[in-house]
Amino acid sequence: MPPPCMRCDSQRVINLETARKLGIAAGALTGSLKGAYSSLHSPGRLQTSSAQFPLGRLSSAVIAAATGGIAGAAAGQQMVQHLFPPGEGTPWLCLGCGHTFRMQD
Ligand SMILES: [Zn+2]
Repeated sequence: MPPPCMRCDSQRVINLETARKLGIAAGALTGSLKGAYSSLHSPGRLQTSSAQFPLGRLSSAVIAAATGGIAGAAAGQQMVQHLFPPGEGTPWLCLGCGHTFRMQD
């Protein structure tokens, strides 16, 4: 049961810990897809014969996906991290007014 917002008394608050985890997952996923996609579809390398295609290209796609995932996860983490209010306790974000606060468990 989330606590009501300290500023506007709204019950529409989300747990920032959960948001951070979701942000990391979403960021990693987006980063991976973007990395894999852009390396597979990068222009100027489509002339290579199909015999040469699979391994070099696939491994660069995998590497791009991995690095993109790491960068995406870091971006997702930072995005949520800067919302965290200082102090101890569970961090909450009010969706009504954008206020962040912590509640001691
Ligand atoms: Zn509020």
